Amino acid sequence: MNVAVVGGGLAGLAAALDLVDAGHAVTVYEARPTLGGAVQTLPEREGDPEPPPDNGQHIALGCFTEYVRFLERIGEGDAYLRMPLALPVLDEDGRFATIRPRLASLLRYRHLRISDRMRIPMVTARCRNARATPGETFGSLLRRLGASDASIDRFWDVFIRPALNLRCDEVDADAGLFTVRTALLGPRGNSDLILPTKPLGWMHGDAAHRVLGDRVRLDHRVGSLEELDADAIVVAVPPRESARLLGEPEPSLEDSPIVSVHLLFDRPLLGAKLAALLGSDSHWVFDRGLLTKGDESNAGWYLTVVSSGVPELLDVRGRELVERIAGQLTERLGGAELLWSRVSREPYATIALRPGVERPGVETSRPNVARAGSWTDTGWPATMESAIRSGRRAAQHILSSTSARVTA
Ligand SMILES: Cc1cc2nc3c(=O)[nH]c(=O)nc-3n(C[C@H](O)[C@H](O)[C@H](O)COP(=O)(O)OP(=O)(O)OC[C@H]3O[C@@H](n4cnc5c(N)ncnc54)[C@H](O)[C@@H]3O)c2cc1C
Repeated sequence: MNVAVVGGGLAGLAAALDLVDAGHAVTVYEARPTLGGAVQTLPEREGDPEPPPDNGQHIALGCFTEYVRFLERIGEGDAYLRMPLALPVLDEDGRFATIRPRLASLLRYRHLRISDRMRIPMVTARCRNARATPGETFGSLLRRLGASDASIDRFWDVFIRPALNLRCDEVDADAGLFTVRTALLGPRGNSDLILPTKPLGWMHGDAAHRVLGDRVRLDHRVGSLEELDADAIVVAVPPRESARLLGEPEPSLEDSPIVSVHLLFDRPLLGAKLAALLGSDSHWVFDRGLLTKGDESNAGWYLTVVSSGVPELLDVRGRELVERIAGQLTERLGGAELLWSRVSREPYATIALRPGVERPGVETSRPNVARAGSWTDTGWPATMESAIRSGRRAAQHILSSTSARVTA
């Protein structure tokens, strides 16, 4: 069977690999000059440090089993660092406290009053059997379970915001519950942090390209499905483009942006692989030098700062944004001179999982056409794991619907 895969992001790549493994002739059409979609390394510019920056730091968790399997399938099973969850959090006065998924550590989390801290393990445990009411946000559910406003602001948002790309008070309660149950209340190891150690483009798009070889057509934007000479099609593109290609009404899905600022300082500033900043536009800062080069002599200088789900930052001009973010870092981490910077804005980074959002599934009106994408209804937040699961499910859908037609 000839199968066309439209879109060379993680969803399309995962679908393509499964279809190739099942013995089918596959062609992947990708509009851009590189594979990988939302997981990209920025095109190199003169003066960039080594390695060049990514479009935004990506983190996976131990529960991202399909993502890890995908990296192994494309020969990049060694391109990440896996470590037990430990999130250093820096408060407004520059004091550190670390979040670990252990009772003793939670009780020592000094960015909250002791009475607030003591409720965190109780609220977490209550998430196991809690039920969201229709239209409820995760913040409202947490308060019903006993969380204080301060703990939502200074504890829960620290990891819900990067995981779901919205604050607790904006995100759907079921998405929050899923995240807590899967990552924090799931099997040991589910909460591990998985941090890429190579530029994203190299370890995703380029590596998958090596495996798929001449099955890939880059710089090829598919205008209509009718132009494809294929027995079956996987449509693995973002929501609006998917609706256009499938001739469906535009889905009422909102986007949530991610803004990343890459900074090189003249001295080491950060003493950890990553840290969250409370009360700041710089939600998370990652030590790109240390993560990608692995040796301590590169630690602390070359940093990537991520702001999740803050549309206002999209409108702040480049220079002003760099000054603001660099200023917030040096204010808390100590003075340093900025040597280089680069901004990456991704207005459509993920869909906004607000209460009531409906995500379409794999099936389309045509049995030989399947829908994929991290934004589709996989049960997972719009992450790399969701993208890969959606792609694998689309491949399975094509395989089972075509074998059903052959049998009939
Ligand atoms: C800055 C940033 C940070 C993120 N951080 C994280 C994180 O830490 N952890 C995490 O798990 N996830 C993160 N995500 C989300 C994750 O990257 C995405 O959910 C996932 O990669 C989406 O994959 P996809 O294949 O569904 O879609 P996409 O990656 O959007 O791929 C769709 C592809 O289709 C192509 N295309 C579109 N139209 C056509 C057409 N007509 N013809 C041919 N090709 C077409 C596009 O060019 C694109 O390459 C982040 C995203 C961003 C942007």
